[in-house]
Amino acid sequence: TPIIVWVRRDLRLADHPALTAACESGQPVIAVYIHDDQVASLGGAQKLRLDLALAQFGKTLADRGSRLILRKGPALGVLRDLIRETGAGAVYWSRLYHATANDRDAAVKSALKADGIVARSFTGHLLFEPWTVATKTGGFYKVYTPMWNAVRGNEVAEPLPCPAKITAPAVWPASDALADWQLRRAMQRGGDILARHCTVGEDAARDRLGAFIADRVANYVKGRDLPAIKGTSNLSENLTFGEISPRMCWHAGQRALRDGKADAEVFLKELVWREFAYHLAHHTPRILTDNWKEDWDAFPWNTQITPEVAAWQQGRTGIPFVDAAMREMYVTGTMHNRGRMIVASYLTKHLLTHWKVGLDWFADHLIDWDPASNAMGWQWSAGSGPDATPYFRVFNPVTQLDKFDKDRAYVKRWIAERYRSPQDSALTYFEMIPQSWQMRPDAAYPDPVVTPEQGRTRALDAYGNRGF
Ligand code: FAD
Repeated sequence: TPIIVWVRRDLRLADHPALTAACESGQPVIAVYIHDDQVASLGGAQKLRLDLALAQFGKTLADRGSRLILRKGPALGVLRDLIRETGAGAVYWSRLYHATANDRDAAVKSALKADGIVARSFTGHLLFEPWTVATKTGGFYKVYTPMWNAVRGNEVAEPLPCPAKITAPAVWPASDALADWQLRRAMQRGGDILARHCTVGEDAARDRLGAFIADRVANYVKGRDLPAIKGTSNLSENLTFGEISPRMCWHAGQRALRDGKADAEVFLKELVWREFAYHLAHHTPRILTDNWKEDWDAFPWNTQITPEVAAWQQGRTGIPFVDAAMREMYVTGTMHNRGRMIVASYLTKHLLTHWKVGLDWFADHLIDWDPASNAMGWQWSAGSGPDATPYFRVFNPVTQLDKFDKDRAYVKRWIAERYRSPQDSALTYFEMIPQSWQMRPDAAYPDPVVTPEQGRTRALDAYGNRGF
């Protein structure tokens, strides 16, 4: 009897414990991706990236004589239909670790079991599952460094190879056509431009990891802070769709460390920031939706799209570092980590605007959107999360530019208005944005909506006066 492998954020063959277990059983394997309401609620850039990921994973399976079945509807109903149509006796999947997925998966598991179907979930999306890491007193970690110290020496199993054989069923169930899902429709303009910035699929992700380890990890500590250069791995878009496993990244980093590339330890630490985000999302699901520190509920954040907030969204605050980073995200679907920290600080502190406004904008524009890392990043920046920046840490986007983009290579790449011969990348932005924003590359660059000094004073008054 066939085994259904319900794939979600694990679109790969290598190091896929659920798929490997299904293949090793010797039974026919049917991989299915389900377009349910959680997929429907994804942001525009994520949907486009998902479209590319599914097309590629479908090809990867086809190359191995298998198929990716696409179905739309509530997950349990779709799985029951497939079980009825194919006579499958088991459903396997890789665990996810945030509340909406957990609730859905738990309900699916108990319903399938009640139907007499084997329902098994597997590890794969994390290095350390949240319930396997605990403080000495049995609690969970609320601060990153002790968690890093607790896990850094832990044994991490070697990644699994691709399954040797994926047995096909005698008859394939019907599949939706990917094009009919119209996942790219949510991108109003510029979908093709965004697609050109995506690096899709597990082969590409493995090459990317290899190139990073060979060429860049040795200089990661310095390189990772400079937004103008390619100093980081850029693997976040692949990790979020599971085109590469965290174990593959971890072991590559460990090998680099053993080869004398000391900076690789900081790369391992970054991978553990991702783990920490899921640790928090699992133990305190409210981090995804509400102030993690409840006393922040009293903070009078702006929640409206004021003209200043619209300027932030549209990359025309008049603060070059902020605008460059916002435009980078609009065009490429990613933003350098330094940019993320600066634009988040500017929105929450200079513009005193709720982090949720920023979280939603990021969710709509990032191809590497990840529910846990995005929420943790925003709450860290705003000060409302665990292990947050202290309220008096207000990034100054002007001094940050002097420090991390001394020769202005990054801002020149993304801002057209200040320069007589703007770069193609900067002009691309104007091809993508809605006409209603009324921005032109030959217009004058705007004055700051809030200067760094005004913003800092305002933020310190607002935050400090309330004893945060
Ligand atoms: P590298 O420097 O090569 O790091 C390797 C991997 O470690 C990354 O791919 C990522 O999986 C993980 N990682 C690195 N830094 C962090 C971090 N601070 N938190 C969690 N994981 C980390 N990351 C996302 O993947 N998705 C998001 O939606 C997201 N939103 C963010 C929002 C804000 C406000 C902030 C401040 C950060 C956010 N991050 C998010 C974290 C971080 O900016 C990105 O993971 C990183 O820029 C990705 O680039 P990279 O793959 O080249 O990272």
